Amino acid sequence: MTTSRTTALTVLGSTNMDLVAYVPAAPRRGETVFGREFRTVPGGKGTNQAIAAARAGGAVTMIGAVGEDDFGPRLRAALAGADVSVEALRTVAGPSGTAHIVVDDDGGNSIVVVPGANATVTGLAPGDEERIAAADALLLQLELPMEGVLAGARAARAHGVRTVLTPAPAQPLPAELLALTDLLVPNEHEAAALTGIDDPRRAALAFLDDVPEVVVTLGAAGSLYVARGSEPVTVPAVPARAVDTTAAGDTFVGALAVAHGEGRPMPEAMAWAASAAALAVQRAGASSSMPDRGEIDAGYG
Ligand code: ADP
Repeated sequence: MTTSRTTALTVLGSTNMDLVAYVPAAPRRGETVFGREFRTVPGGKGTNQAIAAARAGGAVTMIGAVGEDDFGPRLRAALAGADVSVEALRTVAGPSGTAHIVVDDDGGNSIVVVPGANATVTGLAPGDEERIAAADALLLQLELPMEGVLAGARAARAHGVRTVLTPAPAQPLPAELLALTDLLVPNEHEAAALTGIDDPRRAALAFLDDVPEVVVTLGAAGSLYVARGSEPVTVPAVPARAVDTTAAGDTFVGALAVAHGEGRPMPEAMAWAASAAALAVQRAGASSSMPDRGEIDAGYG
C-alpha cells in the first residue's frame, strides 16, 4: 500500500506480560494437563494495538502503566523496541499486569487477566491530553478502569480526535462512552454479548443507534462494516493456517487505524488489516507475531 502521510495514533490501554502455556487441549475445571512449552510475551490489548500499529507504519504513543517488578522494564523495552513512544508509560508501585493464556493445538485460547499496574490508570496524567490532541485517532480498549477510558475519550472528543474503541473484555458500556466513540470494533462474541443479538449483521446494525461506524470482526470469516446511511460491507479474511489467534483482533485494529488514518476507505483498510491479522495468526505469540508494513503489503490484494 503506498501512502503519502504517516498516521499518528495514541493508544490509551493496558500493558501486560503474557504468560503463555501451549497445550494439546485446554484443561477443564479440576483437571491438570501437561503443556509442551511456556513463553513470556509482552502483551495487553493496549500494547498489542500499539505495537501492531507501529509495525504497520503508524507513529504511535502509548499511555498506560507498568509495575515496579521485573516485567515492567521488559514491557517498556518491548514497546520502545517497536518504535512506540513510551514517555507517557508510567511506572507505578506493585506488579505489572499479567495475562495467563492457554493456547491449544487448534490455535484457540483462554485467558485470565490480572490488571496490576493497569488498575492505576484512572485518569490522564499531565501531558496526556496534549498527546491525545496531537493524534489522528485514539485507540481504546476495556482493560483499564472505565474512569481512565472515559477520561481519554473525553479528551479526544474535546480536540476533535477520532476514537476507536475495542469493547474487550466485553462488559456493559456506559452511554457516555458509546456517545464518545467514533468507530466501534467488537469481535462477533463481543457484539453478541453487548447487544444480546447473535447475528453479527443485526448486532452491528443495532450499534448504529449509538455509534456512527462499526466493524465487527468475524475470525476466519473476515469482518463486517456498517455505517449510518450506507449498506453493510463484508470483507473476507486472508486464508491462513492459524497457529495462535491470541492477538488477531488487536493486530487487525492497529493496522486498520493506520490505513484509515492514511485516508484509505474503510473496506480497503479492512482488507489491509485482514492481511496483517492473517500473518499474525500464523505465528506464535501476541506482539511478537505482528507483521511489518512490507509483509502486510505483500499479503494484500
Ligand atoms: P479477536 O482476536 O478479537 O477474537 P477475530 O477472531 O474476529 O478477533 O479476528 C480478527 C481478524 O483477524 C479477523 O477479522 C480476520 O481478518 C483475522 N483472523 C482471525 N482468525 C483468522 C484465521 N483463522 N484465518 C485468517 N484470518 C483470521
